[in-house]
Amino acid sequence: MMTEFAYPQLQLWIGGRWIDAEGRSTEPVINPATGGILGQLPHATLGDVDAAVAAAADGFRTWRQTSALDRSRVLRRTADLLRAGAENLATVITLELGKPLAEARREVETAAEMFEWAAEECRRSYGRIIPARSPGLRLMALREPVGPAAAFSGWNAPAITPARKLAGALGAGCSIVIKPSEGTPAAALFLARALEAAGLPPGVANMLFGNPGPVAERLMEAEAIRMVTFTGSVPVGKHLAALATRTMKRGVFELGGHAPALVFPDVDVEVVARGAAAAKFRNAGQICTSPTRFYVHDSIHDRFASAFAAAASELRVGDPLDPATRMGPVQNARRLVALEGLVRDAQENGATVAAGGARVERPGFFFQPTVLTGVTPACRAANEEPFGPLALIAPFRDFDDAVAQANRLPLGLASYAFTRDLATADRLATAIDCGNVVLNHWVVSFPETPFGGVKDSGVGLEGGSEGFHAFEQVKFVSQKSFD
Ligand code: NAD
Repeated sequence: MMTEFAYPQLQLWIGGRWIDAEGRSTEPVINPATGGILGQLPHATLGDVDAAVAAAADGFRTWRQTSALDRSRVLRRTADLLRAGAENLATVITLELGKPLAEARREVETAAEMFEWAAEECRRSYGRIIPARSPGLRLMALREPVGPAAAFSGWNAPAITPARKLAGALGAGCSIVIKPSEGTPAAALFLARALEAAGLPPGVANMLFGNPGPVAERLMEAEAIRMVTFTGSVPVGKHLAALATRTMKRGVFELGGHAPALVFPDVDVEVVARGAAAAKFRNAGQICTSPTRFYVHDSIHDRFASAFAAAASELRVGDPLDPATRMGPVQNARRLVALEGLVRDAQENGATVAAGGARVERPGFFFQPTVLTGVTPACRAANEEPFGPLALIAPFRDFDDAVAQANRLPLGLASYAFTRDLATADRLATAIDCGNVVLNHWVVSFPETPFGGVKDSGVGLEGGSEGFHAFEQVKFVSQKSFD
C-alpha cells in the first residue's frame, strides 16, 4: 500500500486560494522514521500573513451572518470527509509524526468527533434572559462570536489540535487564521481541504506556515485578530500571551505538562504497571498529558517498577507503518538530544536506568522506552517536561507525601491516581493542583469534556461547552419598551 501513497503537496491556504512556494523560502518536512525528506513546505511572507488577516476579517463578516444550522452542516460534512479519508490522513500523520498507524487512525476518529461536537454544540449556544427589576425592561445576555481568531498548534497531535481550534472557532461563528506546526503540515492541510470540500466559504479559515516567530508576531500585532488560541510549550505561550495583551486579544493557552501518577497500595500492582507503561509510551510519550512522574507507595514500589520496566523492555519499537509496532520514533532530532541529556543528568544525580536509556541505532529518531528509578528532585528530568518515552518512578510514604510530590512543580495539566479507596479518591480530586484529575484510568479528554491547565500549564479551556464558549463573548443588551 505504501508505495502507492503520494505525500500531498504542501501549500498555504489564504482567502480560499491554494498558494505554492512561488519564490518563497521553503523548509523540508522530515519523516522521523527514516530521516528522509517528505516534501518542501512554503513559508508565508509577512505580506501573506497580512493577506490572511484581511481574508479572515472579510470571512468573519460572512460567517457571523451564517445561521448556526448552516455552520453546523459544514462542520458535520467536514467530519464525514475526514472519516471518508481516514486511511490517507492516518498515513500522513504516521509519516510526519512517527506515531504507529493504529494510533493515527484513532487520532483521525477523534479529530472527526471534534468537528461533530462543534456541529452539535453550535446549535445550543444559548444566551440568558435575566429577570428585570421593572415592568417593560428586558435584560439579555447574548452570546456572540469573538471575531477573527489566530491559532497555533504543535506537532504532537497534528490532526486533533488543529481540529479542536478550527471546529471551536467555526462553530462559534469566528473566522480563523491557523498556523499549525511546520513539522506536521500535511495533516493540518488535510483538515483545510476537508473544510473547503464541505462548503466553508473562502477566507473563513486560512492556514499558514512559516518562520514561527515573525509570523506569530505579525498576527499578534493585527488589530483585526480578536483572539489567540495556542497549544505548545510554556515559553512560547508566555511570549505570545504578552504580545496578545498589547491589542487586548482574548487568549486560550494550552501549554506544557509533567503529569504525576500516584499509585496507592490497594490496587493490582502489575495490572496498573502494565497500563501505566501503555499510557506512557503512547505517541512515544509526546503528549502534554503523558504520565511522567510515577509516585508509588513504598510497600509496592519495587514490584511496580519491575513490572513497568519489563513492559517497557517488551514494547516493540520500529517502523510506525508496520502493524506490529507499538512505539515509533520521536518526531525530531532535538527530542533525541534532549532525552539523552535528561537520562545522563539523572544518572549523574543517582538515578538508575531500569529499562532503555539510549537511542536505537537505526536511521530516523528512535529512542528506547526508558524507565528511571531513584529519581529525586535534583534530576532535571523531574522538573523539565521530557516530552518523550521517559518514565520516572519514585516512592511515597503516605497521602500527604504523595500529594506534596505531585504538586511540587509550577505546572498543572493532567494527573492520574490509582486507588480502590473512595475516600482517598475523593481527597485526591480536591488536593491535586491541576486542570484534569483522572482516577483509575488513563483517558484525560473527550471532545465533549473541558480540558485545560492551571499554573504554567495555561489558561482557558478547550473541549466541552466550556471550550466552545471560549470563542464567544457575552454582550449585555438592556431594552426598555415604550409604554
Ligand atoms: P512549540 O511551543 O515549540 O510550538 C507550538 C507552536 O508555536 C507551533 O505552531 C510553533 O511553530 C509555534 N512557535 C514556535 N516557536 C515560536 C516563537 N518563537 N514564536 C511564536 N510561535 C512559535 O511547542 P511544540 O514543541 O510544538 O509542542 C510541545 C509542547 O506543547 C510541549 O510542552 C507540550 O506539553 C505542549 N502541548 C500542550 C498541549 C495542551 O493542550 N496543553 C497539547 C499538546 C502539546
